[in-house]
Amino acid sequence: MRFKSVVGSRWSVVGDWWSTSLDALVDFVYPPGCHVCARSLDHAASVICVACAAQVHPIPSPYCERCSTPLDGEDAVCRVCAGRSFSFVRARAAVTFDETVQTMIHLLKYRGRRALGRFLGRVLAEAAVREDWFREVDLLVPVPLHRSRARERGYNQSELLARGVADRADLPLATRLLTRHQSTRSQTTLTPAERAANVRGAFRVIAPHTVAGTRIALVDDVFTTGATFDSCAHALLDGGAAAVYALAVARA
Ligand SMILES: [Zn+2]
Ligand SMILES: [Zn+2]
Repeated sequence: MRFKSVVGSRWSVVGDWWSTSLDALVDFVYPPGCHVCARSLDHAASVICVACAAQVHPIPSPYCERCSTPLDGEDAVCRVCAGRSFSFVRARAAVTFDETVQTMIHLLKYRGRRALGRFLGRVLAEAAVREDWFREVDLLVPVPLHRSRARERGYNQSELLARGVADRADLPLATRLLTRHQSTRSQTTLTPAERAANVRGAFRVIAPHTVAGTRIALVDDVFTTGATFDSCAHALLDGGAAAVYALAVARA
């Protein structure tokens, strides 16, 4: 696995076709194990092992119907959602942001483990499908990366997640409908207010004819403050969308 991780660190600076070729080559040289811990897999088609899968925990019920935060009492929404409004109708996250999930998302975003994208997208869709969450959704839209970051990474992890969701939810996916025209700072060290300011106005609809009257579910990796989803939803509603929903793998 050492060779693979060395190659993985180079994926951030090489193009799409090249990293795909490397992936195929390395998997041929070293049969793939669990994408998280490298243990051998019982089924060749698996992405993570049984032990790692046991560390992925669904968000326990009850949870806030607007942002998926677990709740103690009988309120329908959490304190944060009671005190603010979002441009999206509601957000559903599937799993808690525990160590294994954090590792998976890190590997997906920064170590080129693309297989984890489609896998986590299916995990996310599975939770939502069971609740008939998609009944008001016409179209899936991944949260876009700025083109400089997409070029650097070689892919958009949210698009990979959305493909996994599309597989399971049987919905169309639009990847060239919304664009991130401002290159924003990483949100990880920012306060909630700074996060909102950082992404405000960062997104723009580039295919208004597709957006008009459409009910859209945005897809991203982690729901933290909801600022990125909110900014995307604002742009889509401005562009004529009928309603916007939000889907994230994990609730931080
Ligand atoms: Zn494992
Ligand atoms: Zn909430």
